[in-house]
Amino acid sequence: MGTQLKNRNEKDMINISKATTENLKSKVKGQVVLPTDSSYDQVREIWNAMIDRRPALIVRCAEANDVPYAISFARENGLEISIRGAGHNIAGNALCDNGLMIDFSTMRNVRVDAEKKRAYVEPGATLADFDEVAQSHGLATPVGINSTTGIAGLTLGGGFGWLTRKYGLTVDNLVSVDVVTANGKRIQASENENADLFWAIRGGGGNFGVVTQFEFNLHKVGPEILAGLIVFPFHQAKQVLTLYREFVESAPEELNVWALLRKAPPLPFLPGNVHGKEVVVLVTFYVGDVAQGRKLIEPLRGFGDPHGEHIGVQPHTQWQKAFDPLLTPGARNYWKSHNFTKLSDGSLDVMIEFAGKLPSAQCEIFLGLIAGAANRVPANAMAYRHRDAKFVLNVHARWDERKDDERCISWARAFFQASAPYASAGAYVNFMTEEESGRVTAAYGANYDRLAQIKNHYDPDNVFHLNQNIKPSPRQATSLFRRGNL
Ligand SMILES: Cc1cc2nc3c(=O)[nH]c(=O)nc-3n(C[C@H](O)[C@H](O)[C@H](O)COP(=O)(O)OP(=O)(O)OC[C@H]3O[C@@H](n4cnc5c(N)ncnc54)[C@H](O)[C@@H]3O)c2cc1C
Repeated sequence: MGTQLKNRNEKDMINISKATTENLKSKVKGQVVLPTDSSYDQVREIWNAMIDRRPALIVRCAEANDVPYAISFARENGLEISIRGAGHNIAGNALCDNGLMIDFSTMRNVRVDAEKKRAYVEPGATLADFDEVAQSHGLATPVGINSTTGIAGLTLGGGFGWLTRKYGLTVDNLVSVDVVTANGKRIQASENENADLFWAIRGGGGNFGVVTQFEFNLHKVGPEILAGLIVFPFHQAKQVLTLYREFVESAPEELNVWALLRKAPPLPFLPGNVHGKEVVVLVTFYVGDVAQGRKLIEPLRGFGDPHGEHIGVQPHTQWQKAFDPLLTPGARNYWKSHNFTKLSDGSLDVMIEFAGKLPSAQCEIFLGLIAGAANRVPANAMAYRHRDAKFVLNVHARWDERKDDERCISWARAFFQASAPYASAGAYVNFMTEEESGRVTAAYGANYDRLAQIKNHYDPDNVFHLNQNIKPSPRQATSLFRRGNL
């Protein structure tokens, strides 16, 4: 064991002399973590336990100014660069083997200007960090549904959650970003400054530079909202989902309802004999007048004979953590995802069929409703393209033991294939697993060519390629820049 470890560390350190790393250490304010450091294994841990890679070094940035040093060090030493926000991405691109990881996990500051309704957020902040500060002013913006997710990756890929029906995607609420480009330059991007970069960053992931600050628009939300679960027997799934489909067609945008098919966790409001059995859950969220919200969700109870429900008024920050216990780090995860403009009978049948053969107690099928404000943004307004999507389906395979890898992954893949005929165009880059690079062009559709041109301008050498990669297209880009189109 000891010898193995020694050899591995020697390999990790390949081509980097002690003097060179000491020089980097002397320049950055943050910490440089090497494979020989005792904190190394803990620092390189990310959410999806399937991903186990060993960077040659990790720069734990303490300030934005550390980033240019990290980039130039990596480039000078021929190292790949990976970027870690909160390390939640399913593909695990935050981690690299034998490269340099830029780690923001110690840069989590969130500042709110309540008067302007703006938030200024560092790239290591989690949704919990963000919601806590914003909600202390009674403000929020749409972010995801699991509070340990990172603001950075979520925003750069699009971002949606309970508030998306009313206020759009997270990127729809992004006002500006501070970016370090591949050549180490620190610049800002917004509608008024480096507008091409701002267009690309809103959905284009980590392809264009390292974001060191996000500025968001905020909305008055809560601080208390009405939310919770209604849990129905699995044999009523078709009826519940059919009525759900009709209901959400006309539901106001203050109300969001997601459908979840899984085995029931041991929730105290469910009878003991339901625990561990397949169920269909309607997850409800209402932002606005509570009495009105209660009236609106009342019909949902009649969609079947619920096993039980748990709905109530609660702090928005508490609801934002409601799913955390089901989504703790350390499990093995494999996801597949489709967009839907409508839910056909066929799509519901496939969901029910595969929910009837879940390969582990933690696997689930999540149907997120995003219809509303996000659909009103033109498809070419920014990189995030598929504005016709009303639902995002997430096939979430999750399990604990390596021996179950093949069985659980096969289930997710088979479901993904069986539901594909009913899905609409595109894909959500934030839900893509590693082997899906072929779907990147589908994710951006007609926006892809412009993204490739912008990539060529800001990162012609594809320094930032450990992501859902948009490849530079040198020839086209040169001619476009000459015409001054960008
Ligand atoms: C349990 C769970 C629940 C989720 N729920 C939702 C949800 O409700 N809604 C939703 O929209 N998404 C959701 N997601 C998906 C989530 O948006 C992505 O996983 C996202 O990438 C996570 O961001 P992160 O910063 O934590 O990830 P990381 O793994 O740290 O980063 C992901 C990638 O983003 C890029 N990146 C990160 N930081 C920077 C930076 N500062 N500059 C440039 N590039 C950067 C890098 O390419 C990196 O590989 C969920 C994911 C999980 C695992």
